[in-house]
Amino acid sequence: MTAILEKPKPSLADTDFPLIFERSVAGRRGVIPPQAKLAQNLNLEDLFGAQNLRSSPPKLPEVSELDLVRHYTGLANRQMSVDANFYPLGSCTMKYNPKVHETVAPWFTDLHPYQDPSTAQGALELLHNLASSLGQITGMDAVTLQPAAGAHGEFTGILMIRKYFALKGELEQRRVVICPDAAHGTNPATAAMAGFEVVEIPGNERGEVDFDALKAALGTHVAAIMLTNPNTLGIFETRILEIAKAAHEFGVQLYYDGANTNAIVGRARPGDMGFDVIHLNLHKTFTVPHGGGGPGTGPVGVKAHLEPFLPTPIIVKTGETFALDFDRPQTIGRVRSHYGNFGNLVRAYTYIRSLGAEGLHDVSSMAVLNANYLRKKVQQQGYTIAYDRVNMHEFVAVPPKGLTSQGEKLELHTLDIAKGLLDYGVHPMTVYFPLVVPEAMMMEPTETESLETLDHYADVLGEILRKAKTNSDWLEHAPYNTVVRRLDEVMAAKKPVLSFKKFSGL
Ligand SMILES: *Cc1c(COP(=O)(O)O)cnc(C)c1O
Repeated sequence: MTAILEKPKPSLADTDFPLIFERSVAGRRGVIPPQAKLAQNLNLEDLFGAQNLRSSPPKLPEVSELDLVRHYTGLANRQMSVDANFYPLGSCTMKYNPKVHETVAPWFTDLHPYQDPSTAQGALELLHNLASSLGQITGMDAVTLQPAAGAHGEFTGILMIRKYFALKGELEQRRVVICPDAAHGTNPATAAMAGFEVVEIPGNERGEVDFDALKAALGTHVAAIMLTNPNTLGIFETRILEIAKAAHEFGVQLYYDGANTNAIVGRARPGDMGFDVIHLNLHKTFTVPHGGGGPGTGPVGVKAHLEPFLPTPIIVKTGETFALDFDRPQTIGRVRSHYGNFGNLVRAYTYIRSLGAEGLHDVSSMAVLNANYLRKKVQQQGYTIAYDRVNMHEFVAVPPKGLTSQGEKLELHTLDIAKGLLDYGVHPMTVYFPLVVPEAMMMEPTETESLETLDHYADVLGEILRKAKTNSDWLEHAPYNTVVRRLDEVMAAKKPVLSFKKFSGL
């Protein structure tokens, strides 16, 4: 196991950060572009207006190609990533993203979204096939690939439900969307943004939705229930068929937050459980890289009665020809420019085609097996499991209570354990979510991690606990070996420094 420094050491990188960051030297170049050749009679002032022309060159960094490569490689090396570190971030499905995707996605970079569909048949076929595969995987009748994230997919789905009730003349009456108290924050936020009131339903002692409370909240004043199954505690909602039946008796639409599809892919289908609308996070289950604010992809699938409301255009196949259909009078409209995050759709399609139905079935099997194995290992290391029963693809642990080696009350906090993990080269688990479990540590290993990695991670958690018991100061000051140590997380989120200008005084 990695040796960890016991005492804080001043970090050179900390103090010298601006100096290392700024590599610009006047006149240094990586590339010298050819001089622009302007037509003889072209007058830029006439063309753009004198006030819009520069009087001096832009103040851009002046660096050589090697400077540039070192700059970005250096920044990359300071990050934690799936390619470099175990990343058990619960609910985020940080699985390995196969490199073959990066070979296939660039095949399409010559295409322009505005070119005539007759000249982009291959791209349209790919989108058509992907939508149809996702429909088969989830048990849905039609799929749009437009939404650019999970939350965006939720919003698209709830807007379709809204339109459905509006056209039935029931929108006035159906003001409520029901969400469980363990729901991801995007669920109630989506419902509120779409103009609904949110009613929260508690969970029961088994970590499932309280069915009686849910039934009591149902009625014709409700538009939808938003659920994820397995839920955010990693527990399968065993009464899902009864929930669907109870909802449908009141005409209530059942929405599936598909962020947790990795637990069921190839094995169980939300459509068969009674869900009317789903979104998928291709950047979770379907190996599109994510993290760091990169582009997401949140396709939405619907049952046939909601199909008229899908965003336009949809891709239709007539004979052997693919076309874009804009002529859909009941559509909610466009939710994203062009065809969604196309490169990500290619990656997800590559993943599905390289695994096939059997492979996808193995994905969920291994994801669930890994998570259950890890739950036992983490428990053996002395941590408490929040709902100690067979889980699906993730589970929630909490720091143990007990005594320190000096016989004092052990005060262990999730945040400190998360910081401690950084020194061991492990990305922290999801912390303080779901909100229903105080000090929650939500762990999701995914199917791509080896037995050795899971064992190592459990050992690290055990070592952190033992160290904290003998020396509580140690954990409170972790991490010791990262580039930046404990930072002001509020300011880092609210006022991030995203530009080199901060350091170069421009
Ligand atoms: C990730 C996630 C979302 C939101 O997805 P984004 O792509 O981040 O918008 C919604 N619900 C659950 C349960 C999630 O884990």
